[in-house]
Amino acid sequence: MTVALEKSVQDFISTPRQLFIGGQWVDAASGRTFATPNPATGDTLAHIAEADREDVDRAVRAARAAFEEGPWSRMTASERGRVIWRIGDLIEQYGDELAQLESLDNGKPYAVARAADIPLAAELFRYMAGWATKIEGNTISLSVPYMPGSEFHAYTLREPIGVVAQIIPWNFPLLMAAWKLGPALTTGNTVILKPAEQTPLSALRLAEIMAEAGLPDGVVNVLPGYGETAGAALAAHDGVDKVAFTGSTEVGKLIVQAAAGNLKKVSLELGGKSPNVVFDDVDPALAIPGAANAIFFNHGQCCVAGSRLFVHESRFDEVVGGVADIARGIKLGSGLDPDTQMGPLVSDEQFRRVTGYLESGRAEGARTVAGGQRHGDKGYFVQPTVITDTTPDMSIVREEIFGPVVVASPFSSLDELAAQANDTAYGLGAGIWTRDVNKAHALAKRLRAGTVWINCYNVFDAALPFGGYKQSGWGREMGHEVLEAYTEVKAVCTQLHP
Ligand code: NAD
Repeated sequence: MTVALEKSVQDFISTPRQLFIGGQWVDAASGRTFATPNPATGDTLAHIAEADREDVDRAVRAARAAFEEGPWSRMTASERGRVIWRIGDLIEQYGDELAQLESLDNGKPYAVARAADIPLAAELFRYMAGWATKIEGNTISLSVPYMPGSEFHAYTLREPIGVVAQIIPWNFPLLMAAWKLGPALTTGNTVILKPAEQTPLSALRLAEIMAEAGLPDGVVNVLPGYGETAGAALAAHDGVDKVAFTGSTEVGKLIVQAAAGNLKKVSLELGGKSPNVVFDDVDPALAIPGAANAIFFNHGQCCVAGSRLFVHESRFDEVVGGVADIARGIKLGSGLDPDTQMGPLVSDEQFRRVTGYLESGRAEGARTVAGGQRHGDKGYFVQPTVITDTTPDMSIVREEIFGPVVVASPFSSLDELAAQANDTAYGLGAGIWTRDVNKAHALAKRLRAGTVWINCYNVFDAALPFGGYKQSGWGREMGHEVLEAYTEVKAVCTQLHP
């Protein structure tokens, strides 16, 4: 049995999809298209226009005109906020349809997309809508030492940066679009959004929804296409004032280099290899499913996946055995099958990458206690996997696998643990499971990570800032912190001559 596709979804995927530039649906200048596959079967799901350099030029012109000429830039903050709020309402209204598109394109279970991705995206727009009327500067007292007796009136303005390019990954296609678009719009910027080539469908549907919500033409342009072509052209474009990127650390470094041409502003949300720590005093009924969820949610294709599990040596066998039991019991299948708990990985490339790590772990002498193999012989399914007996230098311990694979190691002391947990180039997320608040907060302080979850994991909220230390990124998304990433500060200084 599978979830019956809505007619609107069938129509959407059976029509070749175009680029969205200046409020119009247009073919790529090259006329080229690409196929987006269904990861549960490997079959083609839909055909999509493939943006390249010339389309990037067109979209940048459209975004620039929308920024300079209005009506977006002339709307009141309240009017802008209302449009953004309405985007959130429409995402909720079209939630079933969007969740189906997301499940088809990404492979994630429909029920998960419907319960998590869609409401989180809607709430993100609503949260950001509220900020539109609260972007404020300060008044500042001056005491200029070389101008004794002078009086000044000085204040700051927070202004939009301008034309923003946003490049997003495939693991939460709609939600990543929301995280990027919400703050860019509430602060008055205009945008060119490039969804990942693996999952362009929900961003294209979102373009229709944003137009329906009343977003003026050219304010958001959507360019599906490949990273090395459309993505690279956006990151390097002289007409772009800022690039916001979510993806791998490797590509993040390319973005920084490309952005150097015109020194556009850069914000980055990159990879992770997040530690998840289980102390000896835990309630196993909480910590074991918690540790399993930390790694297996979204098939491990989470930048914050709790992929390094550290368990106190006195509870190691019990906790790791419990996580392995959960792994063996997870039902894999098509995202549209209501019984499915874990779908396929997103693409053949990702499938090869994850199974390659499973091979290298075995070759390096690690022990697989659950999973470790492909599931079935069709589509990109990988068994949820638990690995022990690793050493700190193994690639499965050091590198981001971005699949349902956790490496578990025992620890004995807090000092040893803190050093091991921080022994990574990344610094995105971390988890702590304990009943002892002293231990929890002492360790939270020592972990070099942008988010620390205590007795929970994968908790996201539009109000909670998110981002990385070290090579996990630059800047923060969500919360009020993100507003800084989308605004310039202007100091205005007036000398008073009474
Ligand atoms: P990726 O870096 O290959 O691709 C991400 C995006 O960048 C895609 O849209 C892609 O087309 C584009 N891209 C690729 N090469 C480019 C180039 N040279 N110039 C410009 N754009 C380019 O990443 P991926 O493997 O598809 O996604 C998984 C990675 O994303 C993981 O490392 C994961 O940790 C990271 N991620 C991070 C977060 C976060 O918030 N920190 C969230 C989701 C995913």
